[in-house]
Amino acid sequence: MTPTDLPPPSLRLRLDRTALADNWRALDRLSGSASAGAAVKADAYGIGVEAALPALHDAGARDFFVAHWSEVADVLPHVPGQAISVLHGPLTVEDCAYARASGARPVINSMYQARLWLKTGGGPCDLMVDTGMNRLGIAMNELGEADIARLQIDILLSHLASADEDSPLNATQLARFTEACAAIPARRRSLASSAGIVLGKEYTFDVTRPGLSLYGGIPRPELEGEIRQAATIEVALIQCRDVLPGDSIGYNATFVAERPMHVGVVSLGYADGFLRSWGGKGMLRSNDAALPLLGRISMDMVVVDLAAAPQLREGDWIEVPYYLPDAAATTGLSQYELLTVLGHRFQRL
Ligand SMILES: *Cc1c(COP(=O)(O)O)cnc(C)c1O
Repeated sequence: MTPTDLPPPSLRLRLDRTALADNWRALDRLSGSASAGAAVKADAYGIGVEAALPALHDAGARDFFVAHWSEVADVLPHVPGQAISVLHGPLTVEDCAYARASGARPVINSMYQARLWLKTGGGPCDLMVDTGMNRLGIAMNELGEADIARLQIDILLSHLASADEDSPLNATQLARFTEACAAIPARRRSLASSAGIVLGKEYTFDVTRPGLSLYGGIPRPELEGEIRQAATIEVALIQCRDVLPGDSIGYNATFVAERPMHVGVVSLGYADGFLRSWGGKGMLRSNDAALPLLGRISMDMVVVDLAAAPQLREGDWIEVPYYLPDAAATTGLSQYELLTVLGHRFQRL
């Protein structure tokens, strides 16, 4: 057998490219006079860069944001290096050399990175200013540094810490970013990610950087009705069995049957991003039938009650409800986590 003869896996992640493109268009429209880019780090938040990139580019996206240098290679076949910004910036001379070879722009986040970039030859870059999140970015009191003035800045950016809430921090960060824009010459300016886009038109500047909402995430109520689910998940039923009253199911026997039950073992577990936080509360679906999860997710499998769909057989496909706001409410995981935990065993369609 050659690898091309491998049978298809028992998990499928279906990307709705139309929904993805529509979500980008909605976010671009909501960005007003700014143009929406696309955050495609972490393999397009687990959806798969290979499928997501062409759909986003065809829809009109021209600025792409990844976190790591290792993520540039998967984006490069689809867009020129100059369209890619690397958010973590350069840590080593090798990073700088790779930036120049690939054309991808480093986001300079600290005085260390500014000096490293200049020392290795400089050139176009982006600059992140920290306006109150204390994650990456030069501090407000470093805006006047001589080495910052020497940078050739395309996008000047900052990131909002609480854009998904009505927090006074949003206005504080906007005021600081406005101050930074006055102090630092740049070709373009960018503050808002998905949630920030709908905070008001003063937040959108020249470029916006949505990630989560491209892939169906709804971090603020203003985005309801604008954003559609982009990823659906289907998993195979690998065994049907009958359990008797008193029988327990799964790790640590947390579920004990009180009556005879017909149950199904489904190919879905931790490595696929289906974490224990789903256990006990969640349910899978088969058309209109709800199939409650029984007991703990147990490594690579989970057991469901088949009472509502007794016709299901081994090899049938079952849907995992992955409408992100609802899945987040069920599991206590964030919509970001629900996407980025999705593992590598899915057949991405
Ligand atoms: C991840 C990221 C984004 C995208 O944010 P979403 O909330 O997913 O829209 C934008 N900008 C930066 C700096 C990021 O790290």
